[in-house]
Parts: sequence; structure tokens; C-alpha cells
Amino acid sequence: MSTVSDYFGSLVFDDRVMRANLSAEVYGSLRKTIDEGKELDISVANAVASAMKDWAVAHGATHFTHWFQPLTGITAEKHDSFITRSPDGSVIMEFSGKELIKGEPDASSFPSGGLRATFEARGYTAWDPTSYAFIKGKTLCIPTAFCAYGGQALDKKTPLLRSMEVLSKQALRILRLFGNDTAKRVVSSVGPEQEYFLITKEMYDKRPDLRFTGRTLFGAKPPKGQELDDHYFGVIKPGVAAFMEDLNDELWKLGILAKTEHNEVAPAQHELAPIYTTTNVATDHNQLTMEIMQKVAAKHGLVCLLHEKPFAGVNGSGKHNNWSIATDSGQNLLSPGETPYENAQFLLFLCAVIKAVDDYQDLLRLSVATAGNDHRLGANEAPPAVVSMFLGDELNAVLEAIEKDKPYAGTQKTQMKLGVDVLPKFNRDTTDRNRTSPFAFTGNKFEFRMLGSSNSIACANIMLNSAVAESLRIYADRLEKAKDFEDALHKMIRKTIKDHKRIIFNGNGYDDAWIKEATEKRGLCNYRTTADCMPHLLDKKNADMLISLGVFTDEELRSRRDIMLENYCKSVVIEANTMVDMARTQIAPAIESYAADVAKAASAKKAVASGLKCSYEKGLVEKLSGLIDEIAEKTEELDAAIIKIHDAEDIIEESEMVRDTLLPIMSELRVPCDKAELLTAKSYWPFPTYEDLLFGVK
Ligand code: ADP
Ligand code: MG
Repeated sequence: MSTVSDYFGSLVFDDRVMRANLSAEVYGSLRKTIDEGKELDISVANAVASAMKDWAVAHGATHFTHWFQPLTGITAEKHDSFITRSPDGSVIMEFSGKELIKGEPDASSFPSGGLRATFEARGYTAWDPTSYAFIKGKTLCIPTAFCAYGGQALDKKTPLLRSMEVLSKQALRILRLFGNDTAKRVVSSVGPEQEYFLITKEMYDKRPDLRFTGRTLFGAKPPKGQELDDHYFGVIKPGVAAFMEDLNDELWKLGILAKTEHNEVAPAQHELAPIYTTTNVATDHNQLTMEIMQKVAAKHGLVCLLHEKPFAGVNGSGKHNNWSIATDSGQNLLSPGETPYENAQFLLFLCAVIKAVDDYQDLLRLSVATAGNDHRLGANEAPPAVVSMFLGDELNAVLEAIEKDKPYAGTQKTQMKLGVDVLPKFNRDTTDRNRTSPFAFTGNKFEFRMLGSSNSIACANIMLNSAVAESLRIYADRLEKAKDFEDALHKMIRKTIKDHKRIIFNGNGYDDAWIKEATEKRGLCNYRTTADCMPHLLDKKNADMLISLGVFTDEELRSRRDIMLENYCKSVVIEANTMVDMARTQIAPAIESYAADVAKAASAKKAVASGLKCSYEKGLVEKLSGLIDEIAEKTEELDAAIIKIHDAEDIIEESEMVRDTLLPIMSELRVPCDKAELLTAKSYWPFPTYEDLLFGVK
């Protein structure tokens, strides 16, 4: 049997393969393009394309595709085969440098938010050599960026690459000030922990809501849910273990560093965490991971649910974005150093993150906003919709000592003066890790926990990279001009702590009292829904920052706001339509026929014994009839509200109607349906219940 190290990355055109299959000269130029962003010569591109094709064909590939991430949130691909006609009537397999570098998919059916006028429907894809090509099925996939002909980004990757660039540039300015002349790049890294549910395909197929919307729109709570906390880290069921084993194999072949897997809090919920890598590659890998999860599940007769809230009353699924920045030589800039000087540098980077999160809370919130994720944030679980940071007791004490010029009680009771004290290593303290914080420092990285399980991690990291780059830019502008560097540094760190400490919160983030304090006393934003936060993408402070750094253009921002709001409205409208349909054609008829049978049973009993009261049957029929009336009324109301959405003048108004009318009526319609489920004999209920779904996998 082969071992993991034999087949790890076997389907990736990675550095090993490049070195083995390219001439030293071609390899050298390609490496320069990958590492330093140097432009690639067409002759080099031809050589790379040819080697890539030979390698792919040897691995069974017949097609190639430019693989990209349009604003739909999923990945897109259009397959072309390698075949070309040869004069003798046979075919040969060909792939040119031109085909490698640039593609022209018909882009007209991808969302552009008005960026592409209809007469100019074309867009183009451009090879991203920083993310390795790989084989999926019989297709060589080439990671690409996707742009309109005017150059505007139509995807998630282009702004992500830009944000990495600006972060690197600003961080290098700071490193130079600290005397680091050797670092060439600063790279942001991410390890995204992916949560998901597994249910059986058989049950899934019977639920229109799951099939059309990815979540259950109806369903009474089962007698046993997650109350006992017996699922978290529990023994993995054989069916799930087999799935995980297969999944790991597939991911490893694609060079994805799948590392940890365990059960999550809710029944049927699990998690997969990879070893971290650069934000760009991590984004591609996470998209692939989500895709492969669904494919592997299908092979096992299962369905992998990536929706943020597949089940009401049961924990939803998120994606923890573990983020850090490091130099190209591997020095983690969010790790306290060995010397006082390194500590000062650490504190400056830490402050840059604190300032970034406080200044751009709204951008972080909206970077994770979707109709699905609104059910987690703002509900009493996961992190709240209010962004705050957790630093831990030790680091808090350090910051307080600096702010107040007080002795730091941690080590040697000395006055905290930067460049003098040696800070303790902030080892992660497992006993008091704050699981409720949206943004937690965990020793040498920050864990941003607001992402939804189905979100692409691109948007969150674009905002994070950009906001931190902006803090660093402001710091570097000041420090480069300072006469006394150490003094200026000290003052700036103190000022940051003073100005931004409102964002730091170490208590329980689920607590109502915190939401009150956050919004009323501290003035933090609390945007509960996508409709609330998304318009703020265009707030002057946000647009100014993103545009001046060159991460987005004004047009791109506008189009993105519109696309995100469109996605929000469309998802909810599909849910509403599905609810109307299920209520009318499945739920009401099921209750009706059960009630009729109960009534019939009572009549039959009375025919035999006329003195019987049949009060059970009578009561039940009354209750069920009442519920059917309620269901019918709410269904009509919802149907009318859906039609009214068309009256909206623009996408902002539409999203407000979705938030203020559709979603509330949907919740109201659900109530009598779920009540009726608990009163109706199981054999009459038209689809599997929560119990069937959550405990169905063996
Ligand atoms: P948990 O948060 O579940 O306790 P860990 O802290 O072990 O799990 O790791 C979670 C994720 O953080 C993993 O994907 C890991 O690769 C990632 N991670 C660890 N160190 C870093 C780092 N320096 N930068 C980015 N991600 C990191
Ligand atoms: Mg975690």
C-alpha cells in the first residue's frame, strides 16, 4: 500500500513537478514570476504550457480549464480539450502558452453588477501562477483571475491578490524601520477551519427545502438535540469515518493539507481543518475542499450540507479564519519575539490589527454577510454580529501597562518601556480561550470567527489584509519622518491603545448585556442583517481606504455591493417560494388527511358505541384545523409579499423589503407548521423530520 507521502500532491503541478519537467532556465523564470510577480515571457509560457500538458496527459487528463471564482461565490470552469487536428487526419494533444496565460470564457451570465455592458459581454481569465495548477477528474485546472475587458475585477481572486500586495508593501516599510533589510515580501496566511453537516442522501432527496435552499425551512425540534454535549469530539461513526478517510485521500492528492477532523457540537456536524498556507492558495484550497466534500459525500450515499444554518434550534456552521502575517523567511509578525526590540515590533503589528479591526468593523462584518450567515450572527450562538477582539488576560495587562505608564505585573514589575522589557511568550491558554469572541488572538495568529461555512474566505481576507495595510501605512508615514524612532513608536502604540481599546472585549460575547454595552456605551456597530451592513461598503471612509490602496476601484465597489445584495434577495425569495410550495402542496394536505382520518375514526367508534364522547379526536381535529387555517392564511400572506418585492425601486429597497416583510412572515408561517408536525402521526408527515435527518447517518 502506498503511504500518504507517496501520493500527497500527486495531482498538482507543483514545485517538484516543475523542477523535474522544466529546463533550469524556464524553471528559474517561472519561479521569479511566482515569487516576485515578474512578468512571464511568452517563450517561457509556451515551455511551461507544453510541460504542463505532457504531465497532465500522463495523468489521464484530456481537457484543460481556466478555473476561476466569479462573484456567485462558487467556482466556475469551462472545459476545452487538448486535441488539435493533425494533417494526417489523426489528432494531437496541444496546449500553448497563450492558452495557459489567457482565456476568454463567455462571461455574460456571471454577475457583474452592471460592470459589463451587454454589448461587451466578454471577460477574460488570466493565469495566477502563485496557485499551482491541478487535475480534477480528467481536466487540468489552471487557477485564474477573472476580469472584464476594461480591466475591472469580476471575481474574488483579483482583489485578494491586490490586498496581499498592499499588505506586503506596507509591512515591509515597517520592517525596514526596525532594521530588517533582508525580507523581500510579507505574506498573509490562513488556516480555515471548515464546519459541515452530513446527512443521508435518501433523507435529503425527500426534502425540497434542502434541495432548493440548502437548509430546512420547516421542522420541529427533536426530543434530543445537542443538549447533552455528547457529540463534540465524540467517537466518529463508521459511515462518517469512511467519508473522512476518502475525503482526506482526495484532498491530499490535490496537495491540500487536510490535518484535523472531529465531530462538532451539533449532532451530524463535523469539522475539517487544514494546515495554514498563503491566503491566496488557502482560498483556492477551501473552494476545492467544499467541492470535494460534496463529491465524496455523494459516493458514500451522503450529502454534505455547507449552509450556515441547516437546522433551526441546532448550532449552525461557521468557518474560523486563522490569520497571520509572516516574512518570506518565515518570521511570524504576530508572534512575540525573543528580544525587546522584536517585542516592540510585535506590539506595533498587534496595534495595527487592533486599529484595523476597530476602524473597519463594518467592512469585516459585511465581508461575511449572506442570507445564510445572518441566521448565525445575531442569533444567540456563534459570534454575535458585533465585531470585537479578544486578546487574553496577559496581553491585556501588557497593553494596559503601556497605556497607563504603569508597571507591568507580569514579569519583573518594571515600567513598561518599549525596547526595554522582554515580553512573555503568549502561549495559547487552553483553559480560558474565549470561544464567543468574533476575533480572538490565539498566541501567534488571530482567529476571525464570523465567516459562514459556505462563504468563500476571499472577501474576509481582502478586508483584513487591506485594513491592516492601511494601519501600517499610517504608522510607516509617521515613523519614517520621526526624529526619535523609539519615542515616536512608544507614543504611537500608546495612542492606538487609547483610541481603540473600545474594540477589545474579553467577556461573553453571547450575552445580551454585552450587545447593549457594545452599541450604547462603546459605539460599536451592530448590523444584524446583510441588508443592514452591505450599503456601508460604499461609506466614504471605507471606499476611500480601499480605493486609495488600489484594492478596488469605485466601480468595482458599487458592483460588489449590488451583487451581494442581489444574492441576499434571491436566496431569500427562493426560500420563500419553497415555503409557499411546501406548505400548500405537502404540509397542509398531510395535516388535512390526518385530521380527516381522525374524524373518521371518531365517527366509526360512535357508530359502534353511540355514547362515546371521543373528546381526544375532537380536540385533535380542532387543533389541527386551527393550524391549517393559520398555515393557509400565512401562506397567502407570504405569496403576496413575494409578488410585492417586484415593486422595489432599487436593490437597497428590495433588500429592505426582504428583511422587513419576507423574513418575518417566513418565521410566522413556520410556527403553525412545526406545531402541526408534533400533532400529526409520523406516517402522514410528508418528509423526514429533524430526528431522521440529524440521527440518520450510521
Ligand atoms: P483550534 O482553533 O480548533 O483549536 P488550532 O489552533 O490547532 O485549532 O488550529 C486551527 C487552524 O489554525 C489550523 O488550520 C492551523 O493551520 C491554523 N494556524 C496555525 N498557526 C497559524 C498561523 N501562524 N497562521 C495562520 N493559521 C494558522
Ligand atoms: Mg478554531
